[in-house]
Amino acid sequence: MFKQYCKACGEDTDHKELMKQKPSKYGTSKTEQFKAFMEGFFGGTASTLGASLDLLDRYVVCQKCGCKTLDNKGEEFQ
Ligand SMILES: [Zn+2]
Repeated sequence: MFKQYCKACGEDTDHKELMKQKPSKYGTSKTEQFKAFMEGFFGGTASTLGASLDLLDRYVVCQKCGCKTLDNKGEEFQ
């Protein structure tokens, strides 16, 4: 958990990270998702983490009000 400014609360509150798979051109079956993941995994040149993150949306969830904020910047991982 980490402190981050929440627009809804108007103050710094505890937040949690939440990763959600992006809807992709690939199917929704487990096999198709695995294929999509592997393609991202091996197709990436920067880093394997960065490549797999391409398939994920990163949200931060305010632990006070529960609102989700899309946060795909990802600088924390680099
Ligand atoms: Zn909030």
